[in-house]
Amino acid sequence: MTGMTLNIPFDNSYGRLPSSFYTRLSPVPVKTPELIAFNHALAESLGIMAADEEALAPLFAGNTLPEGADPLAQVYAGHQFGGFTPQLGDGRAILMGEVRTPSGARVDIQLKGSGPTPYSRQGDGRAWLGPVLREYVVSEAMHALGVPTTRALAAVSTGERVYREQGALPGAVLTRVAASHIRVGTFQFFAARRDKPALRALLDYAIERHDPEAKGPEDLLRAVCDRQARLIAQWMSLGFIHGVMNTDNTTISGETIDYGPCAFMDQYHPDQVYSFIDSHGRYAFSNQPNVIVWNMAQLASALVLLMPDEEKAVESFTQIIHAMPAQITERWRQLLGRKIGLAEATAGDEPLITDLLTAMAEGRADFTNTFRALVDGGARDQFLDPAAFDAWEARWRKRLGSEADPDALMRAANPVFIPRNHRIEEMIAAAVDGDFAPFERLNRVLAHPYEPQPGAADLTRPPEPHEVVRQTFCGT
Ligand code: AMP
Ligand code: MG
Repeated sequence: MTGMTLNIPFDNSYGRLPSSFYTRLSPVPVKTPELIAFNHALAESLGIMAADEEALAPLFAGNTLPEGADPLAQVYAGHQFGGFTPQLGDGRAILMGEVRTPSGARVDIQLKGSGPTPYSRQGDGRAWLGPVLREYVVSEAMHALGVPTTRALAAVSTGERVYREQGALPGAVLTRVAASHIRVGTFQFFAARRDKPALRALLDYAIERHDPEAKGPEDLLRAVCDRQARLIAQWMSLGFIHGVMNTDNTTISGETIDYGPCAFMDQYHPDQVYSFIDSHGRYAFSNQPNVIVWNMAQLASALVLLMPDEEKAVESFTQIIHAMPAQITERWRQLLGRKIGLAEATAGDEPLITDLLTAMAEGRADFTNTFRALVDGGARDQFLDPAAFDAWEARWRKRLGSEADPDALMRAANPVFIPRNHRIEEMIAAAVDGDFAPFERLNRVLAHPYEPQPGAADLTRPPEPHEVVRQTFCGT
């Protein structure tokens, strides 16, 4: 491939919405951009032609604008840890534009860490290398695990320092690809202002982009609840803790977004919390299904303003919200059922699932390795008291008797590899010292999480006591 620039087939629809939806501005150039990573496979699937590599670093640093870009910062609001902030917005991100992919989908291309915007508040608009590489690795791993998520297209270093609690750190910019960046908080922004024309425009836009068959607010609400119920069930089936499930970090598309203090659990415990700011455990692992219902109720409260008879609509919207816990449980049961080799887990199978989880919590079992060991062997060794597993195993084997091919189900549902926190921290420390080999290795291995890979057994090992990452920080 030759040519001087990168050819991105932009078609920018968000910038055609009313000006109250965003502030048009360009990224702030950085000192010396250098390319850390470029996701060739993703670029290709988006129809982006990589020209010469030289052009990539200044482009993904925001120093040069690709042809057809329409850079802007989006405004939104959000409930953060339960408290409402009427205006947040992209404080360190710029939407460069949208791409129509060869498969007909529309995706956002966004730079994160691209400098201050009118929504930066006290922030510097920048990101440091750690959270950029963390999001790159974890979001790509999520995709490979089969979970809807934003993707990572590129990472560059800026040659500038950013200042955080830990001191002066190397700056970086992530290029993120998303089905859209419309959040529950985007609806809340206009609802809080009682700006019905804007809210209506956002509704129409979201419907056209994500649910073209939806007839109005109620259909959209139902569709978003459905996507989020499925998404959260998937998180629960993989031991994933998002960490900051604020309404501004909850998408309309149903994609996982904003990888800050997130983590995959090592040892299973339902009350596990990682974020240091989450002192009350609002976003603890087992509370995620409750939080998403609460977040969807906030979306419902915003959408109800668009209904001709608000009082009547409150009733039907409430029904949709109240149906969610059962929806999540149903989906969760199906996913957990496959993890123990059941093609169609019924409500009657729930005790078998929950009893295993209880034994895992009591036995300090590693979440990922225990499930995988059910098919690969050695599951009882995962428990402090292996006898606790033996009792469960007898019941399980009996139930498995009627299953056609439980091993295939388990191999497809139980990953060998997850991005373990201590490995991510280790990778970041190496990258800060200029060694990107661990970053590249993690990406390589995690691209095939369900396949055993010779030479990568060390990446399945849970942390030693001294390696345990007790808290992850807010990713800024
Ligand atoms: P987050 O916790 O990453 O979802 O961010 C919450 C809000 O804070 C968003 O409006 C961000 O744009 C903003 N924000 C986070 N970090 C920074 C930063 N370094 N500079 C400016 N704004 C930031
Ligand atoms: Mg956010």
